[in-house]
Amino acid sequence: MRILIVEDEMDLSMILSEMLEMEGYYVDAVYNGISGLDYALSGIYDIIILDIMLPGMDGLQVLSEMRRNNMNTPVLMLPAKSEIEDKVTGFDKGADDYLTKPFNTKELLARIRALSRRKEKIFFDDNLKFADIVLDKETHEICKNEQKVKLTKKEFNIIELLILNKGKTVSKECITVKIWGYDTDIEYNSIEVYISFLRKKLNAINSQIHISTVRGIGYTIKERKNG
Ligand code: CA
Repeated sequence: MRILIVEDEMDLSMILSEMLEMEGYYVDAVYNGISGLDYALSGIYDIIILDIMLPGMDGLQVLSEMRRNNMNTPVLMLPAKSEIEDKVTGFDKGADDYLTKPFNTKELLARIRALSRRKEKIFFDDNLKFADIVLDKETHEICKNEQKVKLTKKEFNIIELLILNKGKTVSKECITVKIWGYDTDIEYNSIEVYISFLRKKLNAINSQIHISTVRGIGYTIKERKNG
């Protein structure tokens, strides 16, 4: 789980980061709304903790820009007591939860756990369907009707990431960070190898799905049009 903290109070941000890291989360922190939006749009975060009063761009603007760009990462907002009105606005703009400052850190952890469970539920409870295939998360197979092909865990994670971002270009950087983490030695060439295996496996079951290369950037998953 990777969490982004967008909070301009340095002390609070540091306390939150340390606490979340101790719980085993990977944490990145930024201190203004513009970087917050930038980082959020990278798509590599599982949860975003978002303050409201921020320099550059306020938290509510960050949130509405995220949602306008179809970025559905769960967001926990941190309004101050005096910003109680903003909580309502936050929900209108697509916040998933909020916690009024000052808050109890145990309460924050509980909320984060709830959001991460919810995210897993949305994305991983059911087998993922796209175009003519189903990804079976138990067996790590891609199935098209009766035809099946087994994927390695990494291949499975990559195609899952592409499908969750269907229609968008997923950068090699995003694939690397999401699947191998920041501290990896994996090279972009190896990702190309995984992609070429995936293409072969999709062909093997005659799927209409095509993974196209966006030169210098990454990959997009699409359904090939008939004819
Ligand atoms: Ca603030």
